[in-house]
Amino acid sequence: MSEKTIFKKIIDKEIPASILYEDDFCLAFRDVMPQAPVHFLVIPKKEIASVNEIDEADAALIGRIFSVIRKLAKDEGIAESGYRVVTNCGADACQTVPHLHYHVIGGRSMAWPPG
Ligand code: AMP
Repeated sequence: MSEKTIFKKIIDKEIPASILYEDDFCLAFRDVMPQAPVHFLVIPKKEIASVNEIDEADAALIGRIFSVIRKLAKDEGIAESGYRVVTNCGADACQTVPHLHYHVIGGRSMAWPPG
C-alpha cells in the first residue's frame, strides 16, 4: 500500500493543522507557507490525486468544495477584495502533494508587476 500523503495524515488527525472548516466530505486548513495574508487549502477527504483523477461521479464533491471556498472567502474577509483559486496538477505545475487541493489566496493585490 502506498504511503499516506501529508494531507491524508491531516484528514486522519495524525498531524496537526490550522483547520478552518470540516464536514464529512471536505477539509480546509491554512497553508503552512502562506504566499499572502490569507492562504488556505480546501481538499476533498476522498483521496483524489489531482485534477487528472477527478471522475464524473465527483461532480457534487467538487461543487461542494467551491461552496466551502465561497463561505471561507467571506469569513476571511476577502470575498469583496478578491482572491485567487489555484490547483496545481502534475510536475510542470509543481504539484508537491498528490492529493487534490485548491489554494485560496488573497488579502493583497496579485497584480504583476506589483503596483
Ligand atoms: P502544491 O505545490 O500545489 O502541491 O501545494 C502544496 C501546498 O501544501 C504548499 O503550499 C505547502 O505550503 C502546503 N503544505 C505542505 N504541508 C502542509 C501542512 N502540513 N499543513 C499545511 N499546508 C501544507
